[in-house]
Amino acid sequence: MSVATDQPVRPLGLTRAQFVERARSCGRSAGAALEEYRALFRAGVVPAWCEVPEYPVTATLVEGETSKFVLRHDDGLETESVLIPMPRSTGTTTTLCVSSQVGCAMGCRFCETAQMGLIKNLRADQIVHQWWAATHRVQRSADRPVKNIVFMGMGEPTDNIDEVIQAVRVLVDHDGATVPASNISISTVGNPDGIAKIGDLVRERGFHRLNLALSLNAPNDEIRTQIMPVNKAWPMARLKEALLAFPRFSQAAFCVEYVLIPGVNDADEHCDEVCAFLREVRCSLNVIPYNPRRNSPWPAPEESSVDRFVARAVANGQFTKRRGTKGRDVMAACGQLGNERIRNRRVVADDGSTAPVPLRITARRDT
Ligand code: SF4
Repeated sequence: MSVATDQPVRPLGLTRAQFVERARSCGRSAGAALEEYRALFRAGVVPAWCEVPEYPVTATLVEGETSKFVLRHDDGLETESVLIPMPRSTGTTTTLCVSSQVGCAMGCRFCETAQMGLIKNLRADQIVHQWWAATHRVQRSADRPVKNIVFMGMGEPTDNIDEVIQAVRVLVDHDGATVPASNISISTVGNPDGIAKIGDLVRERGFHRLNLALSLNAPNDEIRTQIMPVNKAWPMARLKEALLAFPRFSQAAFCVEYVLIPGVNDADEHCDEVCAFLREVRCSLNVIPYNPRRNSPWPAPEESSVDRFVARAVANGQFTKRRGTKGRDVMAACGQLGNERIRNRRVVADDGSTAPVPLRITARRDT
């Protein structure tokens, strides 16, 4: 990426090499620039000649130890990010779920963010800003650093793939955030072109262990099209081709997510169909109990039906995990991110059709 010199310097969107190049054009020595870059990412100190807006944290909602924080941008729009504690044998670390867009154009019927429609793509620096704010600005226990980053917040990463890839390049930079690629996961509804671009990144040295996750959520095209309109453009056979072409290096995780929705995709035969579809694809199946969005047509599944689905998938020979539900009460769980004040831009009807209505944005805070 070349760095334009007539733009404000937004260092959170720059790798070390790009930052140093820009600093040198401003008359700084390479050594001084490197120290500034390290101080920015490691200590949260902003160089005087750079622009890192102090996006106010307009809400922090906590359920148990899972918290959602909201950053308000200069244009009044907000990003939502979630901090999820992950107990490990060596102590508790934190996974940060970041947004790549404000809103989302994909229209998945089970998802709160879909109610907003797509409002805007985030720049790389605004994506990285979520990590930077979580690390240096949001109050939390200092002994729980952000260890993992998942692109599973608002937005479809492949719909903004160039900025997402630039953000990943910044996050892994050894002189900056230093998040290993193996600790980053990009989740997609399955845009084959986007998967191919992520594959190109994974082929580069230093990115082999970047993780890909596919949001599948259905056993066949008929059901997937009902709950995920994008399936009309990218049916499951096309998805499978893209997945089989994706480079697979040892130890890189490939995860298929399956939001279990009562009465929609949770029958025994659905489980068998999903396992058959995944047989050629070496992956883990991650079963996620549906977290009801606002005005949801479906309830959360019963524990017994989640257990039954998982047990049946395992009996089918499919490596399967069940994701615990965290943050559901504060609308921070999977599929629940979305700003209620601006979501009325698009109403997703129960038949999956969408009816755009005028965008109304308010900077009013009512939390
Ligand atoms: S599930 Fe993901 S891709 Fe689908 S509407 Fe929600 S944010 Fe967009």
